Amino acid sequence: MDYNFHTHTTRCRHATDSDEDYVKCAIEAGIKYLGFSDHAPFLFPDGYDDGYRVPVSEAADYIESIRNLRKKYKDQIKITIGFEMEYYPRYFEEMLKFARNIGAEYLILGQHFILSEHPDGKGSIGPTDSEEHLKTYVDEVITAMKTGLFSYIAHPDLVCFTGDEDVYLREAKRLCLASRDLDIPLEINLLGIRGSRHYPSDRFFSIAGKVGAPVTIGVDAHASNDLLNKETLNIAMKLIKKHNLNYIGIPKIRKI
Ligand SMILES: [Zn+2]
Ligand SMILES: [Zn+2]
Repeated sequence: MDYNFHTHTTRCRHATDSDEDYVKCAIEAGIKYLGFSDHAPFLFPDGYDDGYRVPVSEAADYIESIRNLRKKYKDQIKITIGFEMEYYPRYFEEMLKFARNIGAEYLILGQHFILSEHPDGKGSIGPTDSEEHLKTYVDEVITAMKTGLFSYIAHPDLVCFTGDEDVYLREAKRLCLASRDLDIPLEINLLGIRGSRHYPSDRFFSIAGKVGAPVTIGVDAHASNDLLNKETLNIAMKLIKKHNLNYIGIPKIRKI
């Protein structure tokens, strides 16, 4: 795989290694197109800091550091600077404005919370048997896709739904059809494989395959040597084969 557009840095407070370590490992792994997509900075209006984003005060440093690395390694790798961001109906305009102003070039959607996270939102990841929870997640992801601002959907299968199977299939199909019709790829997330999480989900990608939704891969690197992990990539490739997925390879990056 010669691309990865899902890379974090220590600024999100749950990743390790220097920015340059990521670039070096990417080059070693044969990556030609590297996107940094750390968790988008946002301070909620009441001052609440959720603790997993780039602090607003470090956002400029993030952009500057990656820009410098882009210059330094320009003959070996093409670097793009962006964010992994949620679509929060209540705060989206503000988050987008900040990302643009600070110099972000692209966004991927990571819908980690529903109902705008704070103060009354919920973590997307579950587990949950609530149809309402799953429906809201899918509605919000589809609304995000319709903005045309997200280059792809990170871990689209984030919700660990334990309720009625028919409900899951219906909602997953709705998400996959939107992905196909709007041409926004769905990510096979390698962090899910590394961490033995409930995603990438077999049942989700079986639907993606049937529908023909475009699929890409993201390392979701939180340590530089995640970029060198061939084993997880092989598992992702097997998933692509198994469900006859419409694997597009490198995603088209939508500039914001
Ligand atoms: Zn994420
Ligand atoms: Zn991520």
